[in-house]
Amino acid sequence: MGLNKKSVDDINVKGQKVLVRCDFNVPLKDGKITDENRLVAALPTIKKLISDGGKVILCSHLGKPKGEPKPELSLAPVAARLSELLGQEVKFAADPEVVGPNAKAAVEAMKDGDVILLENTRYRAEETKNGEAFSKELASLADVFVNDAFGTAHRAHCSNVGVTAYVKTSVVGYLMQKEIDFLGNAVENPVRPFVAILGGAKVADKLNVISNLLEKCDTLIIGGGMAYTFLKAKGYEVGTSLVDDEKIDYCKEMMDKAEKLGKTMLLPVDTTIAASFPNPIDAQIEVSVVGSDAIPADMMGLDIGTKTAELYADAVKSAKTVVWNGPMGVFENPILAKGTIAVAKSLAETDATTIIGGGDSAAAVNQLGFGDKMSHISTGGGASLEFLEGKELPGVAAANDK
Ligand code: ATP
Repeated sequence: MGLNKKSVDDINVKGQKVLVRCDFNVPLKDGKITDENRLVAALPTIKKLISDGGKVILCSHLGKPKGEPKPELSLAPVAARLSELLGQEVKFAADPEVVGPNAKAAVEAMKDGDVILLENTRYRAEETKNGEAFSKELASLADVFVNDAFGTAHRAHCSNVGVTAYVKTSVVGYLMQKEIDFLGNAVENPVRPFVAILGGAKVADKLNVISNLLEKCDTLIIGGGMAYTFLKAKGYEVGTSLVDDEKIDYCKEMMDKAEKLGKTMLLPVDTTIAASFPNPIDAQIEVSVVGSDAIPADMMGLDIGTKTAELYADAVKSAKTVVWNGPMGVFENPILAKGTIAVAKSLAETDATTIIGGGDSAAAVNQLGFGDKMSHISTGGGASLEFLEGKELPGVAAANDK
């Protein structure tokens, strides 16, 4: 699925007001940004628009202020950090209404090449309802709209979808384009063998991802909490492990589907077990490794086992494209992170195109220091999942076609 959307390379914004929807939804602790990946990822588009001589008006949501101003969710710290990263002032247009008198005055005062940042778009209750009035207010600030917020592309809100109805030109930014090129090529046009690795907590969260990827990939690897529902579907005792009982039939269907399509589906052959879930999550716990068909009734599976980690790493070795979403175990606990580390390491060591589908797996890969060894780490967990499900993202669909 090549991206057939106009991008910032197809327009000339000299002297024009450009509203750019970014994804500045960064984690904050005591007013400090603890992970600035999303800010760094937004820079190429912003720099391009500055160098073209546009008046660059940035906007984003941050957290869930639920439609009212919440000082702890103000984007002010983002403006300060962005100024440093850009080496140019990013003026913060503080305004409880987002597009109120202050913001309008700040836009009026802009010169070509200036950058301002609006307040958190979710200070307005209409934002997440895609309301008309706020969409029009946002559009009234600008001549051109650029959507570079992949992290919210799976939602239709005022600041990424509604606004496009009221501006003449809507295009995508470089980050959006990169996300879609990587994820799109991997799923629709992969260099084979294509290995997809799915983990995380529950089967129910990833029903359509499992089904869609099974059609596209050569090998589907299952780990994490979701593996135990598959093992139970095979008739194994899974003890007190996480199980989606209503999804057992679904897992059987998927195993049948894999067989019919001639695809390889790998499930854990052994598993790391403990007497209970660690509490607190990083507590020292006693674990042992048993065969997947030998989990005692009173024990809980919390990570893939050592043989499984080797099996999965071998599958990655022979792949040319790898997509990974979801940890292999309770990676927040160092004792239960071994499976996730082994898989991350195998991805780091291969020459294959490696794509991390955001969320926990992205956090794990970065935490482990393998971030720069991956071909692409998606900035959007939910959006990348919907993409892997084969869905069209409303935030992308709303941009002008080429
Ligand atoms: P996101 O939805 O943010 O993209 P993700 O898809 O990477 O995240 P989730 O489905 O949210 O992953 O699941 C991650 C969680 O699953 C982690 O907190 C991890 O501790 C938990 N988990 C992994 N394996 C197990 C297991 N065997 N038992 C219980 N929980 C598990």
